[in-house]
Amino acid sequence: MDENIKQWISQEKNSRSKKIKKILSKMDIKIWDKKIDPDHQNFPFDVEEITGAGYICLECKNKNNFNGEFHIYRLYNKEDNEWDFESEMLVPVCIECYECGSNNIIIEYRPNWAFSVFKDGDDCYHLTLISNKILINFEDSEGYFKLFGQLGCNKDMRNNSSSIMNEMAEWELNDWDSINSDTNAVVVRITTKNGMEQNEEGIYDASGTYKFVEIGS
Ligand SMILES: [Zn+2]
Repeated sequence: MDENIKQWISQEKNSRSKKIKKILSKMDIKIWDKKIDPDHQNFPFDVEEITGAGYICLECKNKNNFNGEFHIYRLYNKEDNEWDFESEMLVPVCIECYECGSNNIIIEYRPNWAFSVFKDGDDCYHLTLISNKILINFEDSEGYFKLFGQLGCNKDMRNNSSSIMNEMAEWELNDWDSINSDTNAVVVRITTKNGMEQNEEGIYDASGTYKFVEIGS
């Protein structure tokens, strides 16, 4: 690479990280690091339900509207031959600010403590803030077990969550006739683009576009 370009890129990176450091110090937010928290007093992996503000864009401080891609997980139970919608949880896959387009997004998981979202190579890369202000580490074998617990799945489904996820099959939304008659509960995963919002209760799908639907049981 041309030396000038290399220099320019490193200057850009420097001024960007300086700008971000400034914003963080103004907001009085620390990005978790074992150097500043060696005793793990504020270790994000120990937090189940967050008490901080959740997703925040570092460029414009937007906390409400986000684009990107997320999965909507839904639980349906069959009762008296009718399929009932029980609950849904959002799991972001990649996220950017709706207001300014930045992907410099943090998760404030405790007041004044945050980590960067989906930053490749980062310790917190697989730690994801889902609906109901719950943090789940999807790198951990218990990740889907916890997600299924949040959805309200029964014990059998929770214990089989990994294999259910591995065997998800493409499905046409609400094509209930295609489901085996001895199945009483299903988890549906809808891959969705954009339209994610956040309020005091957490994130939710406000106007997402459904791209792909899968089902498992
Ligand atoms: Zn923004």
